[in-house]
Amino acid sequence: MEKSLVRKGVIRCGERDIRREAQELARHIPARLAPLAQVAYNYFWSWHPEGEKVFRDIDEYGWLLSGKNPVRFLWRTSQHSLERAAADGELVLRAEALQEALEDELNREPADDGVPPENPVAFFCAEFGLHRSMPVYSGGLGVLAGDILKGASDRALPMVGIGLMYHSGFFHQRIDASGYQHEYWYATGPDRRPTAKMTDEDGEPLCVTVPVWGEPVKVHAWRVDVGRIPLFLLDTEVQENSPRQRFITARLYEGNHQIRLAQYALLGVGGISFLHALGIDPSVIHMNEGHPAAATLELVGRLVREGVSFDEACDRVRQKVVFTTHTPVPAGNETYPPHEFGAVFQDADSSPGTGLENILRLGRIHPDDPNEPPGMTALAIRMSRSTNGVSRIHGGIARRMWQGLFPGRSEEEVPITHVTNGAHLPTWIAPEIRRLLDRYLPEGWSSREQVMDPDTWAAVDSIPDEELWAARMEMSTQLVSWAKSHSVIDRLTRGDTMEYAMAASHTLDSGVLTLGFARRLATYKRLYLLTYDPERVLNMLQGPHPIQLLFGGKAHPKDEEAKHMLQRMFQLKGDKRVAERVVYLEDYDMGVATKMVAGCDVWINMPRPPLEASGTSGMKAAFNGTLNLSVLDGWWAEAYDGENGWGIDGTEDPDHGAKDSRDAAAFYEVMEREVIPLFYDRDENGVPHGWVQRMKASIRTVAPRFCATRMVDDYVRKIYRMENFI
Ligand SMILES: *Cc1c(COP(=O)(O)O)cnc(C)c1O
Repeated sequence: MEKSLVRKGVIRCGERDIRREAQELARHIPARLAPLAQVAYNYFWSWHPEGEKVFRDIDEYGWLLSGKNPVRFLWRTSQHSLERAAADGELVLRAEALQEALEDELNREPADDGVPPENPVAFFCAEFGLHRSMPVYSGGLGVLAGDILKGASDRALPMVGIGLMYHSGFFHQRIDASGYQHEYWYATGPDRRPTAKMTDEDGEPLCVTVPVWGEPVKVHAWRVDVGRIPLFLLDTEVQENSPRQRFITARLYEGNHQIRLAQYALLGVGGISFLHALGIDPSVIHMNEGHPAAATLELVGRLVREGVSFDEACDRVRQKVVFTTHTPVPAGNETYPPHEFGAVFQDADSSPGTGLENILRLGRIHPDDPNEPPGMTALAIRMSRSTNGVSRIHGGIARRMWQGLFPGRSEEEVPITHVTNGAHLPTWIAPEIRRLLDRYLPEGWSSREQVMDPDTWAAVDSIPDEELWAARMEMSTQLVSWAKSHSVIDRLTRGDTMEYAMAASHTLDSGVLTLGFARRLATYKRLYLLTYDPERVLNMLQGPHPIQLLFGGKAHPKDEEAKHMLQRMFQLKGDKRVAERVVYLEDYDMGVATKMVAGCDVWINMPRPPLEASGTSGMKAAFNGTLNLSVLDGWWAEAYDGENGWGIDGTEDPDHGAKDSRDAAAFYEVMEREVIPLFYDRDENGVPHGWVQRMKASIRTVAPRFCATRMVDDYVRKIYRMENFI
C-alpha cells in the first residue's frame, strides 16, 4: 500500500492506480495536452465551470460520441483533433488551468468537522449518480448519493464512498409504437472509464473474499475520484468466480431476489471487509437506504470473533452507524422470506459470530415473531445510533411507519429525525445562469459560508429582467432543438409513420410554454393526472397561448401497472395536437435530466401525498429559474412560499379516486388561470416581467436552502458529530 493513508485529508488507497491509468493516457495524447489526462480521471471537471468546455472544444462531435466520458474521448478521438488542440495556445492554457484547479482542490486543508481524516465517514449506497458517463445509478437515490460525495468534497470533509461496479448498470429503455416499455442491457465495462482497478503492493488486483450462498466470492475494487472523495466500487467480475457469482455485479436492481440479496451482502459485508483490508477505520458508517445494512452484521461478527458478547457487539456497532431512510412506501422497504436470507447468509449460521437466527431477529419489527419476514430497513434502524428521513414530512412518516421498532414510545417520541435533501448546485446549474450569478451576486457567492446565506441570494433581484429572460430563452432553445432531433429518431425507431415522426420536428417551439415531467414512472407519481381530462389538456396544447409537454422516465421492469399507465397516455398520440406538442424522451438519465431541468419553463410533480419522501429534480429546476408546479409534499412543502412557483394541496386522502380528481382539477385550474396568462403577459420587447419575478424568487429562495452544501452541513452538525449522541 501507499506509505501513508491520507494526504491533506484525502484517502490515498488506490491513488497510485489512478495515477498509473492517467499516465498511460498521458502518453497517448500530445504532451501539451497531458494535464488533461489527470483531469479526466477525476469527476471534479464535471462541476468545474470550465471543465466540459475544454473537452468539447477539442472535438465537439467526438465529445458527444464518447458519452461525455473524458477518458474514452481522449483515447478515441482522432490524432488530428488532438494535434490541432495541442497547437491552440489558448486551449492548452485552459487545460493547464483546469489541472491546477484540481490540484488546488486536492491540496486544500481538510475541514475541521470533528471527523479525523484517517477515520473518514464511510458512505455506503447501492447506487451512485455522478455523471451520465458512469452508469452505476438508476435515479434519485443514486443522484443524491453522488451529490453528497460532491458536497463533501466541496467542504473538504473526510469521506469515502462504497458502492458496486455494475457491468451492465441500470436497464435502458425503449418504447414501442404502442407506448409499451421494453428493457435492454448492454455491458458497459469499467475500462475506458475514469476508474482504476485497485492493486496491492505486488501489482496484483486487490482482493477480498465475501461468503455468499455458503461459498467464498472473490471481490475486486475500482477507485473513482469525485473531487477529494474516493469512491470504491466492488466487483465480482473476477475470473475465478462462477458465472452466478460474477452476475452479482451485473445489473443494478436486478429483479431476482437471491441476486439482490447477494448484492446487499456484497455491498455491506464486502464493503466492511474491503475497508478493513485497506486499513481504513471509519469514524462514522453512513448507510444511505437499507441496502447496505448487512455492513452492521459484519461489524458485529468481527467483534464477536474477538470475544465480545453479541449484545455488547451490537451496542458498540450502533455507536458508529447512522442511517438515512428514503422510502415512505411500505412495499419499497424490502423484506425477504427467512429461507432467502438463510440462503445468502448461510455462512453466518456456522460462524461463531452472528448466527442466522440473530440476523433474522434484528431484521424483524417483532423479533420473536417467526412469521415476520426480515427486512433491510428494520435491520438498519435497529443497528444505527441515528435514523433520518429526507424531508420534514418524511421524518414524520418514518416515525409513524417504524413506531413498532420502539415499543412503549408514542409516535412523536420515535427517535427518527430528518435532513432535507439537497442538490449539488455546481452540477445542476446551467452555464447561462451561472454566468449571471457570477456577475450579479457578491464575490465568492458559491463558497460554503456564502452559498447557504439568504443574503447572498438577495442580489438575484438585481439581475435585469431582460438578461435573465435572455438566458432562459437560450436554455429553452437548446432543449427544444435537442428534443426535436431526438424525438424524430425515437419515433422512427419505434416504427411510427413518417408523418408522426416529422410532426415533432415541425412544431416543438422554443417560444412555447414548456412543461417538463420526468422521473421514475411509479404509479404514485401520478403522471396520468396530466391527461386526466384529455379534452382540457388537448385544448391547452393549441390556441394563441399554447403549451407543450416533455416527458421522460423509466418504469421498473416488473412494474406492469406503470408500464400500462404510460401506454394509455400514448393512446392520445393519434391526435394531431399531441403529435406536435407532446414528446416522450426515452432513456431518461442524468444527461437528459440536465437538459430538461434547465430548459423547461415549468417543472411538474404530482406525487400522491405523502409518498414523495423528498424529490430532488424540482430543486435542480428551481436553481435554473424553472418554476415548480407541484403537490405540496416532500421538499416542496418546505420550499413553497406562494411566490416561487405553484403548490397543489398536499393533504393525504385515503380515497385515491377523489384525490386524483381534485388534484387534476386544481392542476388545470392553476394552469389556465395563472401559469399560462403570466407566461404570455409580455412587454413590447417580449419580456414577461411577472414571470421573471417568479423565476428570481425561485432561484433566490431555493438555492440557499436546498443546495448540497446545506445538506452536508446538516449531516455534519446533526448526524455525524458524536457529541449529539452522548
Ligand atoms: C434528480 C434525478 C432524479 C430524481 O428526481 P425526483 O424528482 O426526485 O424523482 C431521478 N433521475 C435522474 C436522472 C435525476 O437526475
